[in-house]
Amino acid sequence: MIKKLVLASANAGKLRELQALLANLEIEVLAQAALGVPEVEETGTSFAANALLKARHAARHTGLPAMGDDSGLVVDALGGAPGIYSARYAGPHGDNDANIRKLLHEMRDVPAEQRGAHFHCAMACVRTDDDPAPLICEATWEGRILQAPRGFGGFGYDPVFLVTAENRSAAELQSEEKNRLSHRGQALRKLAAQLRTWPDR
Ligand code: IMP
Repeated sequence: MIKKLVLASANAGKLRELQALLANLEIEVLAQAALGVPEVEETGTSFAANALLKARHAARHTGLPAMGDDSGLVVDALGGAPGIYSARYAGPHGDNDANIRKLLHEMRDVPAEQRGAHFHCAMACVRTDDDPAPLICEATWEGRILQAPRGFGGFGYDPVFLVTAENRSAAELQSEEKNRLSHRGQALRKLAAQLRTWPDR
């Protein structure tokens, strides 16, 4: 089993989640920023491809095993948009409020029964930058797009994502509830389970 893993993300919340899940595996999780790894351009055409290119980039800069992730919102009525472009839907700056406004505008004429959507998350681990056998885990979270934002928790599109079974938006869930249900929580638990038996070479 690997002993160290660099997280190819600048997000402090993701680092905490991953550290908690991997704590009892005795894998030390390090933030790429602390090791001086610059952000990489997300040029892939799938969630998995972007997760993998982030992981390879971090491994190249640190010489350590690394993990990258990529996620986004896939809306049925919009042919899968914003998808891999979720963070930059309304422009390159990654403004959550502007992204939500654009989404609600695009969906303004879509009736309730056609507002299905899901979040998708891909996570990739590599032992080295040129690892030919990366570990990739993916998961999805089904819901619907609301007509207007609800709740103040979470981030990104959470206020307009209705968790159908809960009849609450993702922004109305406690963070532990969200971690239990979400695309990211599910993918992370799959990954943690597989890392237990992942050979280190
Ligand atoms: P990344 O995986 O950090 O690149 O995130 C991509 C984008 O997808 C985020 O900026 C959000 O706009 C959206 N997104 C991904 N996961 C979530 C989530 O759990 N809630 C709300 N928005 C999300």
